[in-house]
Amino acid sequence: MADATAMEKLVSLCKRRGFIFPGSEIYDGLKGTWDYGPLGVELLRNVKNAWWQDNVTTREDIVGLDSAILMHRKVWQASGHESNFTDPLVDCKTCKERFRQDQIPESQCPKKPSKHPGEFHECQLTEARKFNLMFKTFVGPLEDSATQVYLRPETAQGIFVNFKNVVDSSRMKVPFGIAQIGKSFRNEITPKQFIFRSREFEQMEIEFFCKPETSQEWYKTWRDGRFKWYQDLGLKSDNLRLREHGKEELAFYSIGTSDVEYKFPWGWGELEGIAHRGDYDLKQHMQFSGKDLSFFDDETKERFVPHVIEPSAGATRSVLAFLCEAYAEEMVEGESRTVLRFHPRLAPVKAAIFPLVKKEGMPERSMALYKDLQKNFNVFYDEKGAVGRRYRRQDEAGTPFCITIDGQTATDQTVTVRERDSMKQERIAVDKVKNYLFEKLGA
Ligand code: ATP
Repeated sequence: MADATAMEKLVSLCKRRGFIFPGSEIYDGLKGTWDYGPLGVELLRNVKNAWWQDNVTTREDIVGLDSAILMHRKVWQASGHESNFTDPLVDCKTCKERFRQDQIPESQCPKKPSKHPGEFHECQLTEARKFNLMFKTFVGPLEDSATQVYLRPETAQGIFVNFKNVVDSSRMKVPFGIAQIGKSFRNEITPKQFIFRSREFEQMEIEFFCKPETSQEWYKTWRDGRFKWYQDLGLKSDNLRLREHGKEELAFYSIGTSDVEYKFPWGWGELEGIAHRGDYDLKQHMQFSGKDLSFFDDETKERFVPHVIEPSAGATRSVLAFLCEAYAEEMVEGESRTVLRFHPRLAPVKAAIFPLVKKEGMPERSMALYKDLQKNFNVFYDEKGAVGRRYRRQDEAGTPFCITIDGQTATDQTVTVRERDSMKQERIAVDKVKNYLFEKLGA
């Protein structure tokens, strides 16, 4: 996807076809929130399922977790979020807008869009002040500082505070990881670029615990492995890069951090950070909770605080990258078609089943195939309109295969399968369709 106009087209396609809607739209929206429609919820779920399958289900050294969004306030004091999870905020007394100080060079003055905030003669910018990004709320009926808690700004801390529970209950031995997918909340000063920077979003995070002396090796393994994961799901190498942070960018406790970045229509943006966090987090929680979070190795009889490698990805942000990568417009026999070329694992609908016409038993035969395929795949049945138009609708939804039942099906039990990208058609036996899909979709 080349430019910003293409981005506008993608946003409009997402709305029109039910991928992503602005949150609370009938009340004029709530900035920074998005709702995932019938196709979007499948796409998001497929991204999360692919991540879970590749990082949890098919590995012996990682287990899953689903921790509470509301956590004890001390968690965020220990992690440093209460005092440090801030962005520098600047107000303009003239237009009453707020800006992140570090984003002023990319922002527009609302009164004079050709200028950056502060450059127009009417701008009156205040000094920058620290703005904490955590949403506050209260537990119980009293609203005071004793009952104040936060909506979690990351899922990672839920993993650290459960480290001992998992070790004691699952018999996992270092090196091992704990994975979690879930919602996170950040009161971003300027939510923007569609779902890229939202106030409510989903993360997919792993804390991988290892011995200090093996941690550099694990850091490299995770960094390279996570980069490859995006490539394997179809993000092209020209649009994807791994960027190692310079020393000046690193948090004081971090031994190394790399970002997986995608080239969005407006420029490079982070999809995932892979950080070597040393023993910082476990030690902080040991100090604040007074509990022992060290690990005892039965074999070597050593007790130590593990080092941690943290691959921290955005599920919703990845959805945007997969959408941008998939979006294409092309001319086919003098007509333009819009197609979403999703990787088969991510495609919301795997196959659409069409009767060529609504008579001669075709709908019944199509419905029988549809019902059978439904047991294994998310499939779609459509009998309305010309077949060409039905193909186009599925192209826009990113459906890899369309299967048409026609007059010939009744005589020789074959159907036409049309592939989304090449648009090639082939006839196969109806009883081979399921295996064909298993094979082609890698399901
Ligand atoms: P950024 O610099 O873009 O604000 P970050 O470095 O603060 O991101 P992390 O704290 O490392 O992000 O969070 C891990 C991942 O969570 C990010 O790589 C991104 O994919 C996702 N993420 C973070 N903030 C948001 C947000 N506001 N909206 C959507 N996804 C987000």
